[in-house]
Amino acid sequence: MVAATPDLDSQLGALLGETTTEIDVPRKNRVFCNRNLRMDTIEMIGFDMDYTLALYHQDKLEQLSIELTLTKLIEKHGYPNEIRQLQYDPRWAIRGVMVDRHLGNVFKLDRHSHIGRCFHGFRELNHDERKATYRNDKINLSNDRWEWIDTLFGLPEAVMYTTMVNWADKQTGTVDYDKLFGDIRTAIDEAHRDDTLKSVIKANLSSFIVKDPLLGETLHKFRSSGKKLFLLTNSLYDYTTVVMSYLLDGERKAYPSWRNYFDIVIVGGAKPAFFNELRPFVQIDPVTFQPVANGEIKHLTRDKVYQGGNVVAFEQMTGVKGEQVLYIGDHIYGDILRLRKQHMWRTAMVLQELEREISVSDRLEAQIEDLELLDRRHRNLESEIDYQSLRLKKIQRLLDDEATAPALRARLEEERKNTRASVDSLRDRAGLMDAEVDSLEARIDRAYNSHWGSCLREGNENSRFGEQVNDYADLYTSRVSNFGPYSPLRYFRAPRRPMPHEV
Ligand code: IMP
Ligand code: MG
Repeated sequence: MVAATPDLDSQLGALLGETTTEIDVPRKNRVFCNRNLRMDTIEMIGFDMDYTLALYHQDKLEQLSIELTLTKLIEKHGYPNEIRQLQYDPRWAIRGVMVDRHLGNVFKLDRHSHIGRCFHGFRELNHDERKATYRNDKINLSNDRWEWIDTLFGLPEAVMYTTMVNWADKQTGTVDYDKLFGDIRTAIDEAHRDDTLKSVIKANLSSFIVKDPLLGETLHKFRSSGKKLFLLTNSLYDYTTVVMSYLLDGERKAYPSWRNYFDIVIVGGAKPAFFNELRPFVQIDPVTFQPVANGEIKHLTRDKVYQGGNVVAFEQMTGVKGEQVLYIGDHIYGDILRLRKQHMWRTAMVLQELEREISVSDRLEAQIEDLELLDRRHRNLESEIDYQSLRLKKIQRLLDDEATAPALRARLEEERKNTRASVDSLRDRAGLMDAEVDSLEARIDRAYNSHWGSCLREGNENSRFGEQVNDYADLYTSRVSNFGPYSPLRYFRAPRRPMPHEV
């Protein structure tokens, strides 16, 4: 294995802070910070592979996942051929939607876990239906009834469920919505496990995987500043090596093989179990992909490949602990949440959708500002209505009071008439403004996704998914190479977040 030659120029540049300042980086390529993080205290940086180092062409992967799942549903689960003819529109899913397996609904949650918009098949439930079905209750997410679509691998499941619920409702007989979701889940799970999906990807890497020309340089820059790098993926070695070779082999002279970038390679990591169970590390033969029988692993070395393992043994063997490790992943549940909840490693989340979300919000900047202004005016109008309504009540009370002087009554009658007219006119204006806010909000939402809007927002709030990114990811960005322009010693600082009373 060839060792990387440290690039002294860039190391010196980094030490002298000669890297781009944040302001030079376009917003869609920035690294955002939720919790202060000093990169100079980080000794090791770990990377997840799928949807982190390897971004996928989502449309292609989704189409393939759906085709393979349909084949399994027809051939192994008794579904009719007809389901192949349905239109599976990818816009029916975004990350963070929740499936209600009992009722066949898919919905989006706000940050308080209250249900925002909700679809049954292709039909959106109106406010009253939503209220009647879910009574504005907070959802207890640990119940098996709910399935959270929290990785980009999961989007095809939500698209298929929505489309097939729509189809099944038109067939005769009652629909078992729970079984329908279970069948889709089982079929797609099989496609991931039995190599049907991965064999197609491996044979057509450029169709499915985004090759980022800046990835090698970014990893090199981390290494040049003295950080150790490791790969920790749930994929097995046969797939990992093909994907990583495609991404990195020969990208830089000093690194002929992708393995040269990493000090430790762990595949089949079974995250989140890697973080909360004590599974042993097993050494894998990189040619046969079979375990090498050599007893308990005492050291993790550069020239070997490991499978399984756990965070406790990892820290013991590397001597690097908690806050000295930064792990970069894409999956809140598998990669990020445990680390944050148990105060283990620092975390950065790759959100592939972020680039598009930011492009849309940049493009709609003027409309978003209009909406905020309209919203503020609407609130002012409502305060004015409250004030005038209260005034009307006081006038009425005076008129009802026998002690009120007759000389004042005519004046009060006049005032009542004027105030009532003013309340009516304010209400009319508020109604029109309401409609204007709704239509502008819908137009902005549609630009993100025609059914679901932005994956990070719901109404005026963060979506539940957006809130989790906020709460659990120390840093977030749309791709790993976005770290490139920043100094590897940078102090990432979270912006000050005012409380409502401070705004
Ligand atoms: P990582 O993101 O690099 O840790 O790897 C994710 C791995 O999980 C990939 O190998 C995926 O094929 C696999 N995966 C994703 N969804 C499923 C599933 O539903 N069943 C089994 N494996 C899955
Ligand atoms: Mg991943």
